Amino acid sequence: MKILDIRVLGDPVLRKETTPVEQVTDEIRTLIAEMFDTMYAAEGIGLAAPQVGRTERVAVMDVEGQRFALVNPEITAREGSSRGEEGCLSIPEVFGDVTRSSRVMVRALNEKGEEVELEGTDLLARCMQHEIDHLDGKLFIDYLSMLKRRSALSKWEKIKDDYPNFIRKVAQEKKGPHHSEGEL
Ligand SMILES: [Zn+2]
Repeated sequence: MKILDIRVLGDPVLRKETTPVEQVTDEIRTLIAEMFDTMYAAEGIGLAAPQVGRTERVAVMDVEGQRFALVNPEITAREGSSRGEEGCLSIPEVFGDVTRSSRVMVRALNEKGEEVELEGTDLLARCMQHEIDHLDGKLFIDYLSMLKRRSALSKWEKIKDDYPNFIRKVAQEKKGPHHSEGEL
């Protein structure tokens, strides 16, 4: 088990467009395994490669027991809309309401390199959209109104010094009372 460092807001890697994976090799499977370990250690429900400093188009998630690795995911259909609170493992302790499609279809490769088509509704749909956004360099705070965004960023200003060089060391974190549920 290897826990990777999580990159936090301010690290330019979070704003980079990722590169599609040409072939799901053992190296990619190792990345996926380490991303799952890191996501569970941080008590998140989703994690995308840029959050661990990588630029492959890869994300992992485990939402209410539905566990997926998504390689090269694309949203092929969406419907409905729902508003709900989101957080992000890369912006700890900051939360905000985001409107997302309530149902999405996602086409991707799984960890064996097979093409799969997955349906997500409710929280899974939200998580899929949040993680695929990461692969396009987008963060949930981009969707907040100017005022909400300003207040989220001013909260972050007070916290960010806890993460020198934009690195969040998950393994060394003390599990405190602070609320990490719902960070993606
Ligand atoms: Zn996130």
